[in-house]
Amino acid sequence: MHKTLILVLNCGSSSIKFAVINPVSEDNVLNGIVQRIESNDADISWTVEQAKKSKWLPNINYQEALHYIFNLIQSNKNLTAKILAVGHRVVHGGEHFTKSVIIDKKVLNAIRNCQDLAPLHNPANILGIEVAKKIYPKLPQIAVFDTAFHQTMPKYSYLYAIPYKLYANHQVRKYGFHGTSHRYVSQKAAEILAKPLETCAFISAHLGNGCSICAILNGKSIDTSMGLTPLEGLVMGTRSGDIDPSLHIHLVDKLGYDIHKVNTMLNKESGLLGISGISSDMRTIENAAKKGNKQAIIAIELFCYRLAKYIGAYATVLGRIDALIFTAGIGENSSYIRAKTIKLLKILNFTLDPKINANHGKGNSGIITKINSSIAIVIPTNEELMIAKDTALLATKKQGAKI
Ligand code: ADP
Repeated sequence: MHKTLILVLNCGSSSIKFAVINPVSEDNVLNGIVQRIESNDADISWTVEQAKKSKWLPNINYQEALHYIFNLIQSNKNLTAKILAVGHRVVHGGEHFTKSVIIDKKVLNAIRNCQDLAPLHNPANILGIEVAKKIYPKLPQIAVFDTAFHQTMPKYSYLYAIPYKLYANHQVRKYGFHGTSHRYVSQKAAEILAKPLETCAFISAHLGNGCSICAILNGKSIDTSMGLTPLEGLVMGTRSGDIDPSLHIHLVDKLGYDIHKVNTMLNKESGLLGISGISSDMRTIENAAKKGNKQAIIAIELFCYRLAKYIGAYATVLGRIDALIFTAGIGENSSYIRAKTIKLLKILNFTLDPKINANHGKGNSGIITKINSSIAIVIPTNEELMIAKDTALLATKKQGAKI
């Protein structure tokens, strides 16, 4: 049978997303998610042939969740027979990986060596690879790294101004994340503008629960807002983004915090949640702000202000902007946040078209600025498709086959 499909696995810390994708037609044959793994209200939901299904899986553990997904896929014999390879999202590839690779023992060890840099994510990614290898021993497994796209950043962009030996001996530096998303939307933006990607200057704002922004010159990342870990940069759902690093010592010495408590606070209790005091979810905050909730209003102001500041900085490093791209949950769906941010960008000659902006969202991408304005554009991200395309390319090269 002609093998045309790619199984994509995205193993997060407490959820697993999965999809079976045709990378050529870009059809999503099956996709789903197991959420809240190891909790009382864990569940799986999936869509196959446009039918939505779900099931409670209380207290299911990570291994069991993976097996549940594989059983689900294998119960469809026709589908299983068409799977060419498995593509894995891997969060941290350190400096080792500059692009997607076929996973062998050496690669798996190198991913293990990056574990200290992403202690919540890389172990889950590794488990996904190991279980997939057991279930599909004959299929090529491919790793697609969140960090790889940013490996083109110049040294002055990725170094922190701290003793150099911390970089030389311990690889302490900015890595950046969401690379697969920034790469995907920059390719799409070039297509929409009908310009070769190799000649474009883009600023891509990935605004989901995690948020990051990337300066992309001629198809290459030259700066990005996340750092050694995904905490640095923009204001996020529960993450603070940029802070004064002396905050740690201040809270430890003056308020008696434990250092790990500070870390938890910055990652889980800050950002939109910390400021608004009501939610990390932008929809809830927008609704509250529209009803006059002062904390929600300031949370949104801070979110847009920080975002606009980064856009200004990245305009400087790029020298020009062919397009500002909005993507991910907030970027794709919130006309309110896009409007508020663009209002702060007059110096860069951005003027929103409010009517068009209001109509753009998921499944409806395109330019949202006026004709004489610098271009801002909404593009739904599709990390799974990007993973499927990379996987198909490497798997067909390995097998000398055509898809
Ligand atoms: P993740 O980073 O977990 O993949 P998403 O990309 O799904 O997250 O983004 C989640 C965020 O998108 C949440 O803050 C959610 O409130 C926000 N979001 C989704 N739809 C809308 C909407 N219509 N308006 C405003 N925010 C939205």
